[in-house]
Amino acid sequence: MTVPPRLADVVVIGAGQAGLAAGYYLRRAGVDFVILDAQEAPGGAWRHAWPSLRLFSPAQYSSLPGRMMPAPASGGYPSAADTVAYLTDYEQRYQLPIIRPVTAHAVRRVGERLAVETGARAWHAKVVISTTGTWWRPYVPHYPGMRDFGGEQLHTADYRGPEPFRGKRVVVVGGGNSAAQILAELSHVAQTTWVTLRPPRLLPDEVDGRALFDLATRRHRAALAGQNADGIGDLGDIVAVAPVREARDRGALKAEPMFSAITPDEVVWADGSTAACEVIVWCTGFRPALGHLAPLRLRAPGGVISTDGTRVLAEPRLHLLGYGDWTGPASATLIGAGRTARQMVGEIIAQL
Ligand code: FAD
Repeated sequence: MTVPPRLADVVVIGAGQAGLAAGYYLRRAGVDFVILDAQEAPGGAWRHAWPSLRLFSPAQYSSLPGRMMPAPASGGYPSAADTVAYLTDYEQRYQLPIIRPVTAHAVRRVGERLAVETGARAWHAKVVISTTGTWWRPYVPHYPGMRDFGGEQLHTADYRGPEPFRGKRVVVVGGGNSAAQILAELSHVAQTTWVTLRPPRLLPDEVDGRALFDLATRRHRAALAGQNADGIGDLGDIVAVAPVREARDRGALKAEPMFSAITPDEVVWADGSTAACEVIVWCTGFRPALGHLAPLRLRAPGGVISTDGTRVLAEPRLHLLGYGDWTGPASATLIGAGRTARQMVGEIIAQL
């Protein structure tokens, strides 16, 4: 028996922070909408982050519209668990219409509407907002020999804490905040080597994530104006949160250039030098989780989906929010998601 589709003016796919920010503005505008989320419980990707992760900005600069994130009782920067608690409270406070666990497998064009297929049933919407994040598509670059490595390889997304690596020789790959924070704690229990593609940029102690959001906005504006954005810091720069500062002062944050190959028990640089290791931790980022949009065939040559702000050029009934700067300055951060969502919902109301 075929289940008839349900109708909504707007369907949001994903209830991480970006989906909630969209929901906040949609609710305020009185739009008929629903949010579908694949998770069993609130919090998006933050539910899966390693326990010691610290946000790179203080609570008041990591907040969604309408409600400030409370400062953590323990002081300092919020943890992943603090962020989950905040997002849980947020979606309840604003009574956002979230249905979970529901995975959107495919989005297709059906006449005037877009159909969001979820397995059990489809939702037919005038506008779809995709806010599915990146955590679900970890990225690991390819290096010769990596398949034959005899030790353990894991990605940031698999990392839970330092204990399994006690006493081991560990190579940490990547020059961003995740790599620096993981390296900082691993270096207490393991013999670590840090390798980065480019020399890592560690920000001065007094610069936190808030300044980075402003820098990201300036970078975005400069790029839009066709100006050279080099020299402007970005969200990849490393914020000196307390554990990173401590590791730096201990001398544990010395980076080597990227190796060029992997053997069963070591990494090898182009000049022939080597480092023996039992573990490689790839802190090499994520890619947008956009598989559900494949039936729409939106990717231009080169793999990108072109947008004007959040609106997809090849399918104007579809908006993307939260994947990176291409859908709004810092829109993949807690504070940036709200700014971009506000503008997006304004456009959608005009569209409806
Ligand atoms: P997500 O949190 O990934 O939420 C997407 C939701 O969509 C999830 O619930 C997922 O289950 C659901 N979903 C996915 N696919 C489907 C589907 N097909 N159907 C239905 N539901 C689906 N930002 C900051 O502002 N400050 C920080 O300090 C910070 N630190 C970070 C540290 C790390 C290690 C990482 C990886 C990111 C960090 N970020 C930080 C960036 C960003 O805030 C997070 O990545 C955040 O989780 C992105 O939120 P989102 O809502 O875009 O995506």
